[in-house]
Amino acid sequence: MAETLIKVDLQQSPYENPQVHNRWHPDIPMACWVKAGDDFILESYDWTGGYVQNNNSADDIRDVDLSTVHFLSGPVGVHGAEAGDLLVVDLLDIGSFADSQWGFNGIFARSNGGGFLSEHFPHAQKTVWDFHGIYTSSRHVPNVRFAGQIHPGLIGCLPSQALLQEWNRREAELLEREDKAVAHLPLAATAHMGQLCGEAARRAACEGARTVPPREHGGNCDIKDLTRGARIYFPVYVDGAGLSVGDLHFSQGDGEITFCGAIEMAGWVHMKVELIKGGMAAYGIKNPLFKPSPLTPNYNDYLIFEGISVDEHGKQHYLDVQVAYRQACLNAIEYLSRFGYSRAQAYSILGTAPVQGHISGVVDVPNACATLWLPTQIFDFDIRPQASGPQQLVTPGVEVPLSYDREGGSHRAYL
Ligand code: ZN
Repeated sequence: MAETLIKVDLQQSPYENPQVHNRWHPDIPMACWVKAGDDFILESYDWTGGYVQNNNSADDIRDVDLSTVHFLSGPVGVHGAEAGDLLVVDLLDIGSFADSQWGFNGIFARSNGGGFLSEHFPHAQKTVWDFHGIYTSSRHVPNVRFAGQIHPGLIGCLPSQALLQEWNRREAELLEREDKAVAHLPLAATAHMGQLCGEAARRAACEGARTVPPREHGGNCDIKDLTRGARIYFPVYVDGAGLSVGDLHFSQGDGEITFCGAIEMAGWVHMKVELIKGGMAAYGIKNPLFKPSPLTPNYNDYLIFEGISVDEHGKQHYLDVQVAYRQACLNAIEYLSRFGYSRAQAYSILGTAPVQGHISGVVDVPNACATLWLPTQIFDFDIRPQASGPQQLVTPGVEVPLSYDREGGSHRAYL
């Protein structure tokens, strides 16, 4: 049995675990070391460090301090890894803890995080999903059950000092250009720098990159296909590589559209590492690439919703794939609502189920076309259009919890 190199106690604050960190910085000491060819297990908190609870209230989604996330397990040092190598990571298996067989999907309030469709879903909402082996279902979303494509939302290696400075430079520049919170700069107050302490920790916390976006090292890519059985090739930017993982998802639709758009869970990852010396230059690699798993849920029938780059107010956008995908999502939500689903239930289905998103056309001016593939077999009734019209087959279930902003407006100054 592979050794568990990082353990987490879900009853303990992640800030008290020195093998956990929530910023990217090359000075964060390795939490443990392995050799090329080793396989090992890392346990992980859910991305909020256990803040969100299995209950029928969305207050925790409304109130979570997003400057604390994501809590990552690592970094794992690999002996012999040098900048310029490729770190080959096999995701051998991923699972949830025996005493934590559930996860959550959060629709974040516009005032705290927001989401892909914030204009239509301005308030905090939450659905809770129970795990039954490889399957999941939710008391908040009736008549739906599917197999999870379990994966880490976030996995990557430490950046070099030069790469970190480049991230901070370009993201600060973007923030200056825009008049809204389009990026999140380093924030020392809630940083957890792993085993780094004292003055060195304070200095690094002031420039440690936030874990929100995906970057050249991987990071928060939220790719549902990085499931158990996948092999990832990471560019190595520091000696030792420094691999960290977290933000485990039981399942997620392409785009992770509700922001906390997957079924978020705590759990463990069993992985194996190898090295390809000098692989970055040999293969011209600056971002990770990966091979998919032989194991994916076998859904082969879909209803595919089209969206074009004309927004819901009738405004024409030029080849804007984001606008097109939003329209495909809104079209699917409208459609599902005809069967008796609330719009929040439909939004949650699109965020959590193994929904595919495709860019279909980006050259036919002025409209981009994006498609959203909704697997029909996740429903226990027929959702195809037919002459008799949509059947109201949905049983009510427990209402999706909703929490309005607190009196006095926004409660978080930063993400
Ligand atoms: Zn996540």
